[in-house]
Amino acid sequence: MDRTQSARWFARAERVILGGVNSPSRSFKSVGGGTPVVMARGQGARIWDVDGNEYIDYLAAYGPLVLGHAHPKVMAALREATYDGILYGTPTRWEVEFAERLQAAIPDLERIRFVNSGTEAVMTTIRIARAVTGRNKVIKFAGCYHGHSDAMLVAAGSGPSSVGVPDSAGVTPGTAHDVVTVPYNDLDALRAALAVHGEDTACVLVEPIVGNFGIVAPASPTYLRDVIDLAHRAGALVIFDEVITAFRFHYGTAAQMYGVHADLYALGKIIGGGLPIGAYGGRRDVMEQVSPLGPVYQAGTMAGNPASMRTGMACLEVLAEPGIYERMDALGRRLAEGIRQLADTYGEAVTINRVGGALTVFFGSHAVRNYADAQATDGVRFARFFHALLDRGVCIAPSKYEAWFVSAAHTEADVDQTLAAVEGAFKAMAA
Ligand code: PLP
Repeated sequence: MDRTQSARWFARAERVILGGVNSPSRSFKSVGGGTPVVMARGQGARIWDVDGNEYIDYLAAYGPLVLGHAHPKVMAALREATYDGILYGTPTRWEVEFAERLQAAIPDLERIRFVNSGTEAVMTTIRIARAVTGRNKVIKFAGCYHGHSDAMLVAAGSGPSSVGVPDSAGVTPGTAHDVVTVPYNDLDALRAALAVHGEDTACVLVEPIVGNFGIVAPASPTYLRDVIDLAHRAGALVIFDEVITAFRFHYGTAAQMYGVHADLYALGKIIGGGLPIGAYGGRRDVMEQVSPLGPVYQAGTMAGNPASMRTGMACLEVLAEPGIYERMDALGRRLAEGIRQLADTYGEAVTINRVGGALTVFFGSHAVRNYADAQATDGVRFARFFHALLDRGVCIAPSKYEAWFVSAAHTEADVDQTLAAVEGAFKAMAA
């Protein structure tokens, strides 16, 4: 595959854009190097690079593109939004209608605020939880990603009673001191952490179905309920980070799939239909702590911008059509089963975690239920697989910790073509 133009553009990028990328996950650092592919165009389940090479896309821009690229209804909404001007800095009917639609789908969102990213959404929910409880500490789960606010760039301490350590330069020990990290899918660890820090804990924050160390679902159907009960018994609020999960697996949240209720939710990605967005919301009494009604400050010049409201609305309208999630689930199953069979044929040890149309192929034979399990999978083999797939026209995220996202635009033929590429990759890896 000739990627000469891509390499040229990336060399130019490196001279002006820090590291050549606007988000570090786009670099190829986690897959043993190589030059990130510079993309030019997307349509449906396909993207094309600047050299004109075509790829079946499972990156889906890290999640938002649940309808694939350039869905006609989303593109029409975007065009229409531009006819009316772009930004007013006032309330608009678009944000009202969109908030109503979100609330109708997710009744737990008794009040909603729109922001511009998932990072902002999570950051604000933590601030609210601290204000409501008068406590400082946050308990989160190792390997979950909640955006790049200071407190969320804190790694695990060494045991349940220890507090975190900064995971990024520039995060103060004071910030890290307020964050406690426990393994996902381990109630005893959460219990132990709450036994030590319960009285200081403002909130327990979780990705209800994890998307950030690969797709990892609760190991037991009652896990999330137990997390919520433990947190509430300690007087802490529960925040579900549904930035990836909301509208990914069904028309609503992961909380609804498990029949549970968080106090606050952070949303993003899919709800913008591909434009920048974040949102947070939840219990009315808790949300009313936010300015202008309450003492917690949060604001945004671009918040609720009409274009994001209108593309988000169009995206949700399409997602509400019957059968769409069933199709993505069936395609996800076909893909996962196909990869499983090919792995067996070529003697490749893989563990595939899948929920609906989202899946992760881990290189290793052990079950992956928490971050430590994911870390123990083979990153070198994943890197070979990643490059072999890219060279065969299949685009997935350049990290063993990410998901493949099947979109509503993928077809059985796309999946079968993907499986042929996977077979080629496994063959090359076996050679
Ligand atoms: N929360 C989760 C679960 C995410 O996966 C992400 C981004 O990947 C974020 C929050 C941050 O969202 P954003 O990149 O829009 O700031």
